Amino acid sequence: MNIPIDSQKNKVEKGRLYLVATPIGNMADITLRALKTLEECDFVAAEDTRNTGKLLAYYDIHRPLFAYHEHNKRTAGEKIAERLLAGESCALVTDAGMPGISDPGFDLVCLCREKGIGYTVVPGPCAAVTALVLSGMAEKEFAFVGFLSGSDREKKEKLEALSSEKRPLILYEAPHRLTDTLTLMRESFAERKIAFCRELTKINEEVAQMTLEEALSFYQEREPRGEYVLIVEGAPDEACFWAEMDVPSHVAFYQQQGMSKMDAMKAAARDRGCSKNEIYKQMIDG
Ligand code: SAM
Repeated sequence: MNIPIDSQKNKVEKGRLYLVATPIGNMADITLRALKTLEECDFVAAEDTRNTGKLLAYYDIHRPLFAYHEHNKRTAGEKIAERLLAGESCALVTDAGMPGISDPGFDLVCLCREKGIGYTVVPGPCAAVTALVLSGMAEKEFAFVGFLSGSDREKKEKLEALSSEKRPLILYEAPHRLTDTLTLMRESFAERKIAFCRELTKINEEVAQMTLEEALSFYQEREPRGEYVLIVEGAPDEACFWAEMDVPSHVAFYQQQGMSKMDAMKAAARDRGCSKNEIYKQMIDG
């Protein structure tokens, strides 16, 4: 393929890893530099070799594929590092979007840093950024959360910790877990608005903004389908109810709401923007 970019400046170097962003739905969303890198590297490490195979075939690129995913990232990562150290060049492609954002790309970056292997990013589509702009919910700042992981209890704790975040939150979620996640969110985010950004850049791209309650009844009637990014409205600016309280009264307030002493101290620490240890110290000192 005759790719019209400065060949010298964009030359793929030996012994270097290239984290290449690929389309999140629309095959045309790929940069000229990404195509050139994929065409010139010695091999392509891919999270899903079938999907990446289709992308390469679409652009008539013929490079050997090497599987690198969540379940083999340790051994496959070592193998890739060995090949890079032996002088080969490698393009890493994760399963759509920007490698290193909520996928095993991060682990390979860490390995390269550890072993002193050169790497760079060939930027392009990212589901989080696409959804954020489309939602129209963040003028300036935002906070990226990605997937909520762990047990339901761990997810709840994470959501609770995020509930005072004033910036809009960006979350990734799989369709089969969407309603469970919304149920957990109801406890921490109450009446907030959420934008459901679905099937971005695809024919069925859709953005629906609803409150959590509306969303729960909506998805109880319809099975969630496709890929989702959720943008959750940030915490409202409320008058600070505890401003006149000393620390023990602040903690007691939360205990009266049914929290354990430990959770009440954590909540007070979060409100005051200090550590739980500082709250504990002030409780003892009186
Ligand atoms: N590294 C990728 C990025 O940041 O673009 C994300 C990888 S993560 C494993 C996959 C998640 O990204 C999906 O579960 C979904 O939440 C989101 N996603 C990817 N493509 C999407 C699309 N076309 N529409 C909506 N969400 C998408």
